Amino acid sequence: MEKNYAVTRHTFDEVIVPTYAPSAFIPVRGAGLNLWDQQGKEYLDLTAGIAVTSLGHAHPVLVDTIKKQAETLWHVSNYYTNEPVLQLGKALTEATFADRAFFCNSGGEANEAALKLARRWAHDKYGLQKARIISFVNSFHGRTLFTVSVGGQPKYSEGFGPLPGMIEHIPYNDIDAAHAVMDDDVCAVIVEPVQGEGGVMPATTAFLQTLRELCDRHNALLIYDEIQSGMGRTGKLFAYMDYDVVPDIMTSAKALGNGFPIGAMLTTNEIAAAFTVGVHGTTYGGNPLAASVACEVMKIINTPDFLSRVVSAGEQLKKMLEGVVAAYPQVFGKVRGKGLMLGLVMSDACLGRAKEITAMAEKNGLLLLLAGLDVIRLVPPLIITDEHIRRADALLRQSVDEWIKTAG
Ligand SMILES: *Cc1c(COP(=O)(O)O)cnc(C)c1O
Repeated sequence: MEKNYAVTRHTFDEVIVPTYAPSAFIPVRGAGLNLWDQQGKEYLDLTAGIAVTSLGHAHPVLVDTIKKQAETLWHVSNYYTNEPVLQLGKALTEATFADRAFFCNSGGEANEAALKLARRWAHDKYGLQKARIISFVNSFHGRTLFTVSVGGQPKYSEGFGPLPGMIEHIPYNDIDAAHAVMDDDVCAVIVEPVQGEGGVMPATTAFLQTLRELCDRHNALLIYDEIQSGMGRTGKLFAYMDYDVVPDIMTSAKALGNGFPIGAMLTTNEIAAAFTVGVHGTTYGGNPLAASVACEVMKIINTPDFLSRVVSAGEQLKKMLEGVVAAYPQVFGKVRGKGLMLGLVMSDACLGRAKEITAMAEKNGLLLLLAGLDVIRLVPPLIITDEHIRRADALLRQSVDEWIKTAG
């Protein structure tokens, strides 16, 4: 390639496989919660790249870390271990229930590893019949064939059959359904402590306690998918810490690398033993660049001061959104969620129209996410200030006003 091509949003439609329909503008630069597009227009970014850039864009400590590591060692493969990955393994196991970590490059891969581990552990210990996996309606666990099959949104697995078998979906937060579905052939139950893509829906404590008891009774593994809810998002390092119900396996990704691709599967010594040499692997997993960034992310997020600020920022943002619900009861129904993982739910009269509001907000320079057709999802950077929240409040109200005028 001799020169850089002149590219616009139109280029996407020419050369990229059409799995996405990105916005009309192209972001070219970010700092903290701000983004700028090709034309220099500024946006307040409350999407955090889908709950990923929790420390904001171009965080100076992370920029410095990745520069230093890039000048030192990028990649050696898993024929060798490396210092950053060992430090990250230490940090994550010290901070959680887990004894051991497996590193990969995304959330879907972390769940793939978790589900394969659960099957392998159960087969080795109890035999081939112990293969049933229980998951929940509306859950999301990634886009590999195994994880779309386990996920509870049929639209993601339709047309890809034959799918992996012995996977069943029951309603979330439904204790009776959980009792009814469990038997000794279940090897794993996989659950998001707060459903993200499925509509920003927190689990009840009684529900997670029930899953824990049923897994213990039937020698099944409880897997928490904390890819979205973890790394400080709900005000604890991981959301499960607020429930005090401990899993056997947990996955992390998204905010773990603040945008540098990394995923982690965490588990106990006993279960990890089923993954002997050669049973599972990845070329890039645990590479020094990703691990060095994640180590710094852990150092910044996993402090009492940082996490208590997430709690108070979450309360502020929730109060702001409740104010918007009160001002526009014909448009919005309620606010739900935990910490800085919040959903602004459309009113019954406006079901299916969340996207019209976020499109208007984008026009006004405020970037928001959706979770389905009826929920505006707020998963902003955890470094959000009261001033950002005030700006978001003004831009959101302005956008709703304009939407009411134009859409009626
Ligand atoms: C985003 C997400 C995944 C998938 O992660 P990828 O990095 O996109 O593969 C899995 N589970 C949950 C709960 C997620 O939010």
